[in-house]
Amino acid sequence: MGGSPLRILVVGAGIAGLAVARALRMAGFRPDVTEKLPPGELSETGLYLPGNAARALRRLDLDGPVRPLGEVIHRQRFLDSTGAPLCEVDLDALWAGVGECRALLRGELHRVLLTGAGGAVRHG
Ligand SMILES: Cc1cc2nc3c(=O)[nH]c(=O)nc-3n(C[C@H](O)[C@H](O)[C@H](O)COP(=O)(O)OP(=O)(O)OC[C@H]3O[C@@H](n4cnc5c(N)ncnc54)[C@H](O)[C@@H]3O)c2cc1C
Repeated sequence: MGGSPLRILVVGAGIAGLAVARALRMAGFRPDVTEKLPPGELSETGLYLPGNAARALRRLDLDGPVRPLGEVIHRQRFLDSTGAPLCEVDLDALWAGVGECRALLRGELHRVLLTGAGGAVRHG
């Protein structure tokens, strides 16, 4: 049966909203994305993505654009407040078969997600 195409509104253009918009586009929909904040400067703070984030980006077909960004993190070292080592984690072993762990700028991930979501977000 015919009918008007399904209209979908994604509210919030953070990591979750843009990822959902990307997944919907991959499924053949053209969602509208709205964000209450005005367009801002992309954040220069750092973001650590564990292996399951790499797996999610793969499923969104966005692993390619993220791969050149930031650094792959192989080991994580935990220290107490005096700097004494508490433990060390071999991230390659922990996330083997899932994905690489990566540190990058939050703004860089946002740019990739924004492009993947189709680019158009209604701000304000
Ligand atoms: C200091 C800090 C460091 C962090 N570091 C890491 C890290 O290293 N690694 C990691 O994996 N996670 C980290 N996190 C967590 C991570 O940032 C969040 O889990 C993630 O950003 C959540 O994304 P989100 O899209 O669900 O929510 P948000 O990023 O909060 O996005 C929601 C969006 O919706 C908009 N919105 C809300 N209400 C409305 C409305 N009514 N209409 C329109 N728009 C609306 C908001 O303005 C916002 O832009 C960190 C968090 C903080 C605070």
